[in-house]
Amino acid sequence: MKQSTEVLVIGTGQAGLGACYYLKKRGITFLAVDADIKAGESWRKRWDNLRLFTPANFDSLPGRPLQYPGSYLPSKDEMAAYISEYAQQFDSSIQFSCATKKLRKTEDGFEAITSKGNIYAKQVIVATGGFHVPRVPDFAANLTRTVQQLHTSDYHNQTDIPPGEVVVVGAGNSGAQIAVELCENHQVTVIGKKERLSLPQAFLGKNVFWWLRLAGILNAQKDGFWSRYIKRHGDILIGKDFNRAVKAGKIKLIHAKLQDAKASKLIVSNGNELTAKTIIWATGYKPAYQWVEIEGAVDSNGLPVQTRGVASIEGLYWVGMPWQSALKSGLVNGVNEDAKFVVDNLKGVIKQSQ
Ligand SMILES: Cc1cc2nc3c(=O)[nH]c(=O)nc-3n(C[C@H](O)[C@H](O)[C@H](O)COP(=O)(O)OP(=O)(O)OC[C@H]3O[C@@H](n4cnc5c(N)ncnc54)[C@H](O)[C@@H]3O)c2cc1C
Repeated sequence: MKQSTEVLVIGTGQAGLGACYYLKKRGITFLAVDADIKAGESWRKRWDNLRLFTPANFDSLPGRPLQYPGSYLPSKDEMAAYISEYAQQFDSSIQFSCATKKLRKTEDGFEAITSKGNIYAKQVIVATGGFHVPRVPDFAANLTRTVQQLHTSDYHNQTDIPPGEVVVVGAGNSGAQIAVELCENHQVTVIGKKERLSLPQAFLGKNVFWWLRLAGILNAQKDGFWSRYIKRHGDILIGKDFNRAVKAGKIKLIHAKLQDAKASKLIVSNGNELTAKTIIWATGYKPAYQWVEIEGAVDSNGLPVQTRGVASIEGLYWVGMPWQSALKSGLVNGVNEDAKFVVDNLKGVIKQSQ
């Protein structure tokens, strides 16, 4: 089946839906597609006990606030349900179970080859998220099969992990949360490259994100001091549960770089060797835009070539990438401004203040 539209939005997580909101508000004809069966599924697929580290008043999409007390930390299923309900306002403009397999440039726009046929659009907003392919070092393949390895994206709960020693590689928010969850019943070691800045969830009665916004850190521009600091040291660790478990001796924390793996051993830059029954790779994700078959759209590192979401290819836009414009761009809180900016910068759109 062939379809055509003015603007095609690819992906209906929070970023794509933010774009849909401003497109609808500006009266621009659009069609949105998502490979999944409904909106918000990327949240639903995360591990069972995941709670957002950002409080409810930082987790709303434009126009329809999340209905929880401001300081409440939503569960991943509550977030998924909110996103799925939010998507209903765009109803017939979204097609689910519609994966974009290729995106190409045409003479006067773009052609998206999807699992449901071809879609032609004058302009395209890619909002497929920043977390595509689990990042696991190549040397993980040297480990014997007796060592169970899984990436955080495949972790559901403690029952996935057999008794015995667990090494969590990566001490960011995901690695720290999972380590805390496992340390009651397992012997847990966490390897993190550097000591991270960690902040309590709340301070003087206000959530840490309130303070981060007040201090200008949440809005820090992508090349500003705080953004450079965080890129060098890793994300700020939110909450003190992890540090408390380390202090109490329930988690062993090693600051070192993992260098290699052989048989059942992990080799660490400080010369130590570690043996574990299970290794959890809390090592983040890589982007995967190989389906964007447009010359110059993606750089040699596989990252979109763009400025604040506006690509150098006319008519092509991106929303929802970590560091798109500011530190908060990869968070729910960053979607509003980034999506609005991108929609305001579509060809032929008259900028509005709201
Ligand atoms: C473990 C974890 C915890 C996080 N916790 C927080 C938090 O507490 N607070 C916070 O603000 N942020 C958090 N984030 C960051 C961020 O808010 C989420 O990752 C969020 O899901 C990103 O939204 P998105 O719309 O950019 O991408 P996604 O939610 O990933 O949505 C992308 C959509 O695009 C679709 N798609 C992908 N490829 C295609 C294709 N080729 N064709 C069609 N559709 C496609 C997918 O099906 C998906 O629905 C967390 C991230 C992770 C990984």
